[in-house]
Amino acid sequence: ENIPVITIDGPSGAGKGTAARLVAEQLGWQLLDSGAIYRVLAVATQYHHLSVEEEEPLIPIAAHLDVQFEISSDGESRVILEGEDVTDHIRTEEIGAIASKVAAFPRVREALLRRQRAFKVSPGLVADGRDMGTVVFTDAPVKVFLTASAEERAQRRFNQLKEKGFDVKITRLLDDIRQRDERDQSRKVAPLVPAEGALIVDSTELSIDEVVGKILLFANEKL
Ligand code: C5P
Repeated sequence: ENIPVITIDGPSGAGKGTAARLVAEQLGWQLLDSGAIYRVLAVATQYHHLSVEEEEPLIPIAAHLDVQFEISSDGESRVILEGEDVTDHIRTEEIGAIASKVAAFPRVREALLRRQRAFKVSPGLVADGRDMGTVVFTDAPVKVFLTASAEERAQRRFNQLKEKGFDVKITRLLDDIRQRDERDQSRKVAPLVPAEGALIVDSTELSIDEVVGKILLFANEKL
């Protein structure tokens, strides 16, 4: 069927998540936060005491991931893994690092394809991640690559964590971001690169509203 998809790919901390959510709200479309799926898988590997160095044992876990994305009564979105609320747990730096390790395995990625594609429902989908436009939704009519300088992304992450009461060093965050970028960009499967025809948006000097405005304008031209 002809259900339109807007893909928003880019490195961590570029503002993809917030931009995708706002664009989806504006249009009244479904939202897929694909990073959350990799993060949930990272937590599942911990539940099952699996090493993230070996691909084979991770494949059935990925294929049968028992995860639910729910909206709670207060309107907050919650992530439930095997009946447990892991919403906050999946957002930690530790889980992000494990997620980017499991995400480097080709057959693990393949095992997650169908689950991601199932998010494509009428009247449309906004999907954010690393390979939404290059692998998962190659026929999407609207593709965006959202980026920002590593320093700016570290600063944003720092502000977020500080707001939540976490005590972190910004230099440590910058190191983490650089390492994760390196791993995401250099892996053999689905490396982080702009899709063909993608609108490239550098959000370093832009507000979130400006980013959303650019994406909606581009989508209007394309759809
Ligand atoms: O976007 P987020 O930081 O939540 O993603 C966590 C990790 O999951 C990323 O560092 C990346 O390695 C992986 N990922 C991926 N493909 C996606 C989304 C996330 O490989 N589409």
